[in-house]
Amino acid sequence: MFLDRRFFEDVPKAQLHIHMDGALPVEDIWAISQKHGINLPKLPEQTREALEAYYRVDPDERFDTVERFVGVFLAKFGPTIALTKTPAGMREAATAHVRDLARQKHVYAETRFAPQYSVKKGFSLQDVIQEALLGLNAGYLETGTLVKLIISIGRECDQETSLAVAKAATEFQHNGVVALDLACSEEEFPPELHIGAYRIATEARLKRTVHAGEFPCDRDIRVKNMRTALTDLRANGLGHAIPLAGEDEILARVVRDGIRIESCPLSNLKTGTIKDIRELGLDKLLRAGVRVSLSTDDPLMFGTSMADVMQATCDAYGFGLEDVRTLTRNAVQSAFCNDEERTRLYYEFMRRGFPLFA
Ligand SMILES: [Zn+2]
Repeated sequence: MFLDRRFFEDVPKAQLHIHMDGALPVEDIWAISQKHGINLPKLPEQTREALEAYYRVDPDERFDTVERFVGVFLAKFGPTIALTKTPAGMREAATAHVRDLARQKHVYAETRFAPQYSVKKGFSLQDVIQEALLGLNAGYLETGTLVKLIISIGRECDQETSLAVAKAATEFQHNGVVALDLACSEEEFPPELHIGAYRIATEARLKRTVHAGEFPCDRDIRVKNMRTALTDLRANGLGHAIPLAGEDEILARVVRDGIRIESCPLSNLKTGTIKDIRELGLDKLLRAGVRVSLSTDDPLMFGTSMADVMQATCDAYGFGLEDVRTLTRNAVQSAFCNDEERTRLYYEFMRRGFPLFA
């Protein structure tokens, strides 16, 4: 069966790795900023045109050096983070994010952001997370798309912040926060710097995922970071894990322990870390029984959608309907929601005409 564009747009979806502040539609960023009088940094002037120009994606642009990754790519989070520094802005951004995921036919998603960037006097880590959860829940009630929250640590922070973010995440683990994450530059700030934070999560039985094997840096560093994430941070999931298919020892461990792999093929292509989606060896990972699923990562920055990611991956590997089903089932099976919610997700996929067990 040939899977056409229409299929990828219409098929019910689940993804586990998307950054809220890397995913908001431009019209929502503009609407929320105008409604609350929020100044959007990095723009030459506060106009909708300037905002659209700022996020207009050159299809050939790559963030493939550390300088461009940090200086250009990470800088693009400035305007969206500005929205999340007020309670109403945070809440409305979260709801807009769910609406956008629902429009793209998501049944389920796990979104993430680093609350440390939104904190200011009178708006604590706990306040930030609380507003995000209220916004996600409002989106769920409106659209039926269930979106759980992963709390990221921006890994360049000091120990005190790292521990405080982990502790705040555990305080909401029964109210929508499903995991702790470590994001940003893995070359400069390796996972072992955050062992303390991950110990807090482990002791509280909060799930753990780590951006590892992503950054445009030496392969040995990426491999070492994947290993440290699994061994010292006791990660239940890895974001990206680009070199995994070529690392038999780590691969065996990932299969044995049911570690989920949040693969973001178009993100890796756009950051220039890979030149071809086939470098990820997703066919090998699926054959080995890895719980690998597909995600967008930062669709706002890359000008991509979940349909684009699924279609590009299927095109690269010659994947068909059953592979799409497997990748989607992997996402739901390894979702960090509870088992009752998972059962409802299986039912919802069936109700929408795409049963995950065929
Ligand atoms: Zn990411």
